[in-house]
Amino acid sequence: MNIYIKAAERSAQWHARQMQKMKACKFDTIAVHGIYSMQEALDFNQGSIIEPIYMSSSQGFRDSDEMEAALSYQIPTWCYSRIGNPSMYYLEGVLALLEGYGGDFETSCCATASGMSAIMSACDPFLAVDPESPDAPVNFVATCKVYGGTFQQFGIRKHNERNIEWRKVVNSNDIEEWEAAIDEHTRFLYGEMPSNPGQSFFDLKKVGELAKKYKIPLIVDSTVATPALLRPLQWGADIVVQSVTKTLTSSGFGISGAVIAKKNLDLKIDNDLLKQDFGMYLKTLPNRDNGPNISPVNAILSLNDIRTLRSKIDLMSRNTLQVARFLSGHKHIEQVDYLGLETHPLHDLAKQYMVLVDSDIDDLYNKPVNRYGHLMSFHVKGGAAAARKVFDSLQRIWRATDLGRIKSVATIPAISTHQQQGEEGRDLAGIPPNLIRLCVGAEHYQDIIDDLDQALNGLDRRQPDQAGRNKNTAKEIAPYFSAGGASSARLQE
Ligand SMILES: *Cc1c(COP(=O)(O)O)cnc(C)c1O
Repeated sequence: MNIYIKAAERSAQWHARQMQKMKACKFDTIAVHGIYSMQEALDFNQGSIIEPIYMSSSQGFRDSDEMEAALSYQIPTWCYSRIGNPSMYYLEGVLALLEGYGGDFETSCCATASGMSAIMSACDPFLAVDPESPDAPVNFVATCKVYGGTFQQFGIRKHNERNIEWRKVVNSNDIEEWEAAIDEHTRFLYGEMPSNPGQSFFDLKKVGELAKKYKIPLIVDSTVATPALLRPLQWGADIVVQSVTKTLTSSGFGISGAVIAKKNLDLKIDNDLLKQDFGMYLKTLPNRDNGPNISPVNAILSLNDIRTLRSKIDLMSRNTLQVARFLSGHKHIEQVDYLGLETHPLHDLAKQYMVLVDSDIDDLYNKPVNRYGHLMSFHVKGGAAAARKVFDSLQRIWRATDLGRIKSVATIPAISTHQQQGEEGRDLAGIPPNLIRLCVGAEHYQDIIDDLDQALNGLDRRQPDQAGRNKNTAKEIAPYFSAGGASSARLQE
C-alpha cells in the first residue's frame, strides 16, 4: 500500500500548490480556470482545454492495495460517483476558491444535487443526537424570511417531523432578537440574505460575532448575492450554502447546489473531522451515506456558467436597478423592494456588504462599486387580481417559478414558491398576494421596462384583452408533462 500512499502524498502536495497558485489570482481568473490546469489536461485529459465530464459510476483500481488505501480514505480517490468524481471536484474547487476569495483562511466545498440538499447537508450534521444527553431538546435559530423550500424543510421536515425546534427570527436586523432565541440547546444560526423574495438583510458581522460567542456555526444562504457580490465567510459566517441552480448557473441548464465552509471551524460540537474540513467531511461521511450529491454533467454545466459570473452579475444588477427605478415611479405600483434603491430601509446596511468584487481594480470602474443582484419584487396596486392581470400580460418576461436566469423571469410567490406555507407563513415571510417577484436578466433593460409598462398599463383598460390572451386558447391547451397523455388530456372548453 505504501507506494500508493507515497504517490498520494506527492499528488496532495501538487494539488495544494495548485490551489495556492490559483488563490493568488484575481476573481475572474479563478472563475474562468478554476482548479483545472494545463498540466492535468496534457498529462491525463487528452489535452482537453475544458474540464471533462467523467460519465462513470466508479473508478477502477490497479490492484487490491490501491483499493484498500482508497476505500480507507488514505489516498485521494473518487472511488464512486455518489461520493466524488473528477467533474464534481473541479466544480467544488472553483466554488471553494470563489467563496473564500480575499479571505485569509482555507475553504472547502461539497457540491450537491440541489440547493435544498445543500441546506440539508449543511444543517443536519449539527442536529445529531448528543450521546451524552440523548433526550435533550434540540433547536436552531433561523430567519423566517427564507426561500419557500427552506421554510418547508425547516418547518415541516425538521420542526414537525423530527421535533427539532425552529426558533424564528422575525426581524433579522434586530441583533437582540437573535440573541434572545439562543440557549444551550441551540445548534446553529441560519440566515438568508438578501432573502428571496423579500430582500431582507441582516448585519452579518454582528450575527457572526454572536455565533462565535456561543461557539455554534453561522450558516448563510447566499444564493441571491453569489460570491461576486458578497462572501459571508469573510464577515464571520462559518458555512455558506448556494443554490447553484440560480445565478451561478444562469443558463438554466439544471439543478445543483453547494456547501462551502471555512476549514478549522472553532465550534463547541464534539466532532474533529467535521471541524477540520466540513466540505470533505460531508463528502466522505454523511453525504456518502445519504446520497444527495451532484451528477458529473450538472457539475460541468454549472462550472461553465460560473466562468463569466462577475461580468454577468454586474450587467444584470445594473439592469435591475433601472427596472426598479422605473417601477418606483409607476402609478400602478404600490411598493418596490430592491436593496439597490436608496429608499429601501436596508439600503445603507446592504451597501456596506454588497460590492462588485474587484471593481476597485478593473479598468471599467477602478473603485469599489455597489451592486445588489438581479432579484427584486414589487407590489401592484389593486390587490391579487390586479397583480395576476399584470403577470398574465407579460410578453417578454417569462412566467416561471425560477430566478437567477440570463432571461428575465417573474413569479407570484403567494401562488407558487411560497404557496405551501399558508397565509400565516406568508405573513411571517412578508409575502402579500399582490407581490410579483422579478429576476431581471441580461436583455437590454429598456425592453424589459417596455414589457412591464404595457402589462401595467393594461390595468387602465376595463376589458381584460391582454390578460385574457393566454386563457382564450384553452381548447388548444395540453399539459406539457407527458407527450403521450397530452392528446387525450386536451382540455375542453
Ligand atoms: C432556489 C433557492 C433554494 C433552493 O435551491 P434548489 O436548487 O432549487 O434546490 C435555496 N435558497 C434560495 C435563496 C433559493 O432561491
